[in-house]
Amino acid sequence: MIADVIVLGGGVAGLAVARELALRGVRVTLVERATLGKEASWAAAGMLAPQVEADERDEFFDFACESRDAYPAFADALREETGVDIELDCTGTLYLAFTEEDDRECLRRFECQRGAGLIVERLTAEEVRALEPNLSPRVRSALRFPRAWAVENRKLCDALARACRRAGAEILEGTEARSVSADGARFASVETSRGTLGADACVVACGAWSSRLPIKVSDGAQESPAVEPVRGQILCYAMGAGAPLVSHVVYSPRGYVVPRRDGRLLAGTTVERAGFDKSVTDEGRRAITAHAVEIAPAVEGLRQTDEWAGLRPRADDALPLLGMSTEIENLFYATGHYRNGILLAPLTGALVADLITTGETPAPLAPFSPARLARANSRAV
Ligand SMILES: Cc1cc2nc3c(=O)[nH]c(=O)nc-3n(C[C@H](O)[C@H](O)[C@H](O)COP(=O)(O)OP(=O)(O)OC[C@H]3O[C@@H](n4cnc5c(N)ncnc54)[C@H](O)[C@@H]3O)c2cc1C
Repeated sequence: MIADVIVLGGGVAGLAVARELALRGVRVTLVERATLGKEASWAAAGMLAPQVEADERDEFFDFACESRDAYPAFADALREETGVDIELDCTGTLYLAFTEEDDRECLRRFECQRGAGLIVERLTAEEVRALEPNLSPRVRSALRFPRAWAVENRKLCDALARACRRAGAEILEGTEARSVSADGARFASVETSRGTLGADACVVACGAWSSRLPIKVSDGAQESPAVEPVRGQILCYAMGAGAPLVSHVVYSPRGYVVPRRDGRLLAGTTVERAGFDKSVTDEGRRAITAHAVEIAPAVEGLRQTDEWAGLRPRADDALPLLGMSTEIENLFYATGHYRNGILLAPLTGALVADLITTGETPAPLAPFSPARLARANSRAV
C-alpha cells in the first residue's frame, strides 16, 4: 500500500485526487505553484454536459456520463465535509437550432442518442420559447437534455480545497514543482522551489503545464506525454437579481450562455491555440457577444461586468491522461481533461485514487492510460 503521495497542481484534477487519497488515509502533500483553483478550473463555465455535443457513444462518452451521474452524491459529500454548496443545478440544457443545417445537426444527435437509449427531447420553437421566453424568435427547434447539468466551478474548487485540508492533506501553495526524479525506473522525488520532497508516489496534475515538467532519469531526461494549452475566453454579464434572462444553460452550435445563481450570466467561448497567453481579445469578445445575442437578443442590453480566459489541457488525441507512466513506476498522470475537467472531477478523483491505492487499473480508466500515447508515438516514428 502506498503511504505517501505528492500531487503536483492544485486545480480541480489535483484537488479531486488529493481529497480521495486523504479520505482513504494516504498521507498527501499537494504542491501548487500559485493559488489553488485559479487557472482553468476557475475559468471554466461549470457545465456537466456530456450529451450536448456528442454524436456517438464511445468509452469517453460513457466515462463522462458516469462522472456526471456521480455529481449529486459528490455535491452532498462535499457539503457534508465542508459546508460549501457547489450549486449543482439540474434544470437541464437546451440546444438551439437557427438554420436548416443546425436543424439537421439536432435531428442527427436526437436520433443517435435516442437510439442509444439516452434521455433527450426534441422541442418545437414554440415549446422551447415557452420554457425560456427570452430566447430569440429566430429559433427553429431545439433539443432538451434534462441530464445536462451545471455547477459553480469556483465553489467546487473551494470545497475540494477545504475537504483536502479537513482530511489531513498538506497543501503547499506558492511552491513550484521544478522537476521530477526517478531512481532507476521508479519515482523518487520532486524538486520544488522550496526544496526536495520525497514520497512513494507522485501524481502530475499540472493542467496545461503538465508536459513542461522535466522528468529526470538516471541516464538523462525524459519527456512527459504532450499536453498543450487551448485557450477559452468567457464574458460575464449581470442579469439582475430575481429575474434571470434564462434559467437553463443554453447552447447553439456556435456558443453558449450559463446562468449563475448570483445573477451573473456567463457567455462562451473560444477554442484557440495561443500558447500560454491568457488574454481576452477583441476578436474573442466580438464572436462571443454575437453568439450570445443570437441565443437571446436581450444580452445586448446587459451590462458586462467581467471577462477572463483560461487554458484547457489537451493531449494529442484530446482524451484525458489518467494512469501510471509507461516508463516510471509510481509516477501517475491526472491531466489532459481538455474541455471536461469539471465534469470529470468525481471519477478522476475516485478512480486515480483506486489505481494508486490498489495497484490495479479500474476498467473505466484503461482507455485513458498514458500507454496509448506512447504506443501512438512509437507507431508514428
Ligand atoms: C473557458 C473555459 C470553459 C470551460 N468550461 C468547462 C465546462 O463547462 N465543463 C467542464 O467540465 N470543463 C470546462 N472547461 C475545462 C476545465 O476547466 C479543465 O478541463 C479543468 O479545469 C482542468 O483542470 P486541471 O486541474 O487539470 O487544470 P488547472 O485548473 O489549470 O490546474 C492546474 C494547476 O497546476 C498548477 N501548476 C502548473 N504547473 C505547476 C508546477 N510546475 N508546480 C506546481 N503547480 C503547477 C497551476 O498553477 C494550476 O493551479 C473549461 C475551460 C475553459 C478554459
